[in-house]
Formats: sequence, C-alpha cells, structure tokens
Amino acid sequence: MAGGLLAAYLGRRGYEVDLYELRADPREGNIVGGRSINLALSTRGIHALEQLGIANEVLQHAIPMRGRMIHPAGAGRAPIFVPYDVDPKKCINSIGRAALNTTVIEAAQRYSNVRVHFNHRCTDVDLTEAVAYLETSSVEAAVSAANPRPQVIEARGDAVIAVDGAFSAVRQSMQKKLENLEYDESYLPHGYKELTIPPAPDGSWQMEKNALHIWPRKSFMMIALPNPDGSFTCTLFWEFEGPRSFATTKTDDEVCGFFREEFPDAVPLMPTLLQDFKDNPTGSLVTIRCGPWFYKDKVALVGDAAHAVVPFYGQGMNAAFEDCVVLDECLEKFPDNRERAFAEYFVRRKENADALADLAIENFIEMRDKTASKTFRAKKKLDHLLEALLPGIYLPLYTMVTFTRIPYAEAARRAQLQDRIVYGTLIAAVILIVSLLVHFAAKRG
Ligand SMILES: Cc1cc2nc3c(=O)[nH]c(=O)nc-3n(C[C@H](O)[C@H](O)[C@H](O)COP(=O)(O)OP(=O)(O)OC[C@H]3O[C@@H](n4cnc5c(N)ncnc54)[C@H](O)[C@@H]3O)c2cc1C
Repeated sequence: MAGGLLAAYLGRRGYEVDLYELRADPREGNIVGGRSINLALSTRGIHALEQLGIANEVLQHAIPMRGRMIHPAGAGRAPIFVPYDVDPKKCINSIGRAALNTTVIEAAQRYSNVRVHFNHRCTDVDLTEAVAYLETSSVEAAVSAANPRPQVIEARGDAVIAVDGAFSAVRQSMQKKLENLEYDESYLPHGYKELTIPPAPDGSWQMEKNALHIWPRKSFMMIALPNPDGSFTCTLFWEFEGPRSFATTKTDDEVCGFFREEFPDAVPLMPTLLQDFKDNPTGSLVTIRCGPWFYKDKVALVGDAAHAVVPFYGQGMNAAFEDCVVLDECLEKFPDNRERAFAEYFVRRKENADALADLAIENFIEMRDKTASKTFRAKKKLDHLLEALLPGIYLPLYTMVTFTRIPYAEAARRAQLQDRIVYGTLIAAVILIVSLLVHFAAKRG
C-alpha cells in the first residue's frame, strides 16, 4: 500500500527509486483472497493521494459509507443506521486493495526515475551500506527454467526505506543488528476471517450500500464493507480460543449453527458461507510498537513496518499514507541531511502512531459491544448536537480521527478534555436540578 505511494513521492522529489515487492504485479490479477480485500479510506489517506493528484482516480473506484448500519442480535430486528457525522456529506470510502495498489503503483511509474520490481523478497539489509538483499523468482532475473532456485540480488542505494508491512524483513534486520531498537508486539485474542455476500441476481447490493455494516455481539463481531461489483466483503472478528471460538467451531453444523444463531439476517445472503469459512485463512491482529524507526541516514521504516495497528479505526493504511506525506516534508526540510530528515519524521510520527494503536484497540470494544447499546446511540446524538452547536470548538473523537488531519495524539488528548468538560457539565446540571427539586419540595412541605 504505502510502497507505491512513497515511491511516487520520492520520484516526484527527483530521487532514483527502485521499489521491490514480494508479490506479483496486482494488475495481473493476483488478488490475495482472505486478506482485507477492501478497506476504509478517509481524510488522511485522501489528502496523501491529493498531493500527487490521484485522489479522484482512486475515489472513482470507491463506495462512500455515510455511517454504521447496526444489525442487532436476535431474529427479526431491523438494522439501525447511525451516521458518522452531523454533516451527512462526511463519509469514509470502501476501496478495493487491488484497485488502490494499482493506482499508486501506476502513479509511481509515471516518473521515469522510478522502477518497480515484482516477485522480489527482501531477506536482509546491510544497515551501514544501505544494501538490500533480495531473492527473486521473476522471469527477468531467474537463472533459467532448469534452475528454479531463487536468485539473490543486491540492491544498493543511498538509503533503504522499508514499506514491507507488519512482519517487515528490514525491521527484523534492524532488530538483529541494533541494540537500541525497542520493540514490542502484542496480539489480540481474536482472529479474523473474510466471508462474502455476493450481489443479487440483478447485480445490485443485497443490503444498504452506503454504510459500514456491523453485527456487534459483545465479545466478537462481524462487519461488512460494500464493493463496486454489488458484493460485500464481510469480516468476522472472533476469539481464537474459548468455549465458543474458531477453535471449537469446526464441523459444518457447528459453523452453520453459529452463524444462524448470531447473524440470522446475514446467513440467507451468504450462499458460499461454509466454503468461505473453510477456504479463507484466519488472520491474527497484531499491534507493533518500535523505535527508533531509522538508522543513521541509511534506513527508515514506514507504515505497518514501523507501527502496525489493529484495524478497528480503519486507519492503518491512512496512517501509512500520512507517514509518506510527513517523510516527504522532512526530506524537503533537510535536503542535505537525510539523517535529520529521518529523525524529524520519526519524532513527528511516533507519538501519533502510539496514540493510534491505543485508539484502535479501544474502538474494537466500541464496535463489538457499545454500538449495540442505546447509550452509544444517545452519545452519538449528543456528539452531533454539540458539534452542530459549537462548530470548530467541539469535535467528536471519531470525527477528528477520520475526517480531519489533527495529529492522532492531539485528537486523543482533545477528546479526553472535551469528555471531561461535557460530562462534568452534565453531572453539575443533574446535581443542580436535583438540588432545586429537593429545595422546592422542602419549601412546599
Ligand atoms: C482485516 C484488516 C482490515 C483493515 N482495514 C483497514 C481499513 O479499513 N482502513 C485502513 O486504513 N487500514 C486498514 N487495515 C490496515 C492496512 O491494511 C495496513 O495498515 C496497510 O496495508 C499498511 O500498509 P503498508 O504499505 O505499510 O503495508 P502492507 O499493505 O502490508 O504492504 C506491505 C507490502 O510489502 C510486501 N512485502 C512483505 N514482505 C516483503 C519482503 N520481505 N520483501 C518484499 N516485499 C515484502 C507485501 O507483499 C506488501 O505488498 C486493515 C488491516 C486488516 C488486517
């Protein structure tokens, strides 16, 4: 995701760029099934695309989602729509991973100084020399058909920038070779599995198209995002272990029974449910915090390689794209001192990546549990009322994270302060009303 975008930014800045990607060219149709086929793109990501003039190109493939469609537990209960913002025009955008990847890669390839090499696996990095070692199975570099062993090539540059995701090989090289690299990874007890709701026979969407659907079930949930072809990609987030979990739900009857009980309105729309459940892998949900994200002027980490977060705020890719904007700004600020540029990039992003990691975990609880409650919907209404009454002064946390570019850490701090003021005022108002009632009751008595 961030690789293509960053290559475009660096290409625009005039660097000679070689982008090495493990997988084959997404334009050849090698979509990896079962791994977040679509994602929510919002303001930060769109801003990063706008800077390169490719936002409209991307958004033409996207489906706007204006709010959450909550599917309550129990048969026969109608879904409830909760808008994301007081402004009905504010929406997040469901976009296919392949479409987005293709657009950013093509944007990078418009610069003649950017070269993209698919089927190259980075295995190690020489940190002091900025050399990446890559195994390749690509036709151009394969030794011969008779010798299918991967060939190892050395890619030398002034710097190696790692955009190789949560399990980054470059970061692992740094972990092995640098003593000062702090590293922490933590996994949720939940895994995820992707499932499908196909289009109706006439090609239309079988549920409300302009919404992110959520089936909150307290300790677990399913969500669904629309695709342009009329289908929805559903993701079940469920405990790996436990009395009712991925581990204990194995047979066809158990799987069907679980879905019929928990998601009765979705099951009739999922004809391939059993096959999808068996065929698609169960992914894990990791949060990675590390630092520093750079080594001298030689190596830097960007996107999930630096800060993988769980997906519940729909911000991982948006944050990775924001990294590219900030890194580009830092390279502009220190054109002759890349180490300072990397250091400033790290300082500007680290606190925000950490804040996002916390927000994303907290939002899991909100999505799987609180969205089902009337209190949640009342809080959203109060949020929207305050936002309308105090424009520019009161901004709900979700709005700040999703519809502004206020740094994540500042958004989290501001939301805490707002909550304190709002709840403090509400409590004071309740105390005042109760005291007045008691006072008048005593007078009358
Ligand atoms: C279920 C799920 C839902 C999500 N939903 C959203 C969402 O709605 N909105 C959002 O903003 N984010 C979402 N995310 C997060 C988002 O997918 C990531 O944050 C984003 O993809 C990070 O981009 P990246 O470029 O850093 O890493 P990736 O997108 O992971 O890209 C890394 C690339 O490096 C390649 N690679 C890996 N290892 C090597 C190697 N050794 N050598 C060469 N290449 C290598 C990979 O093939 C891949 O192409 C979701 C994540 C998950 C798991």
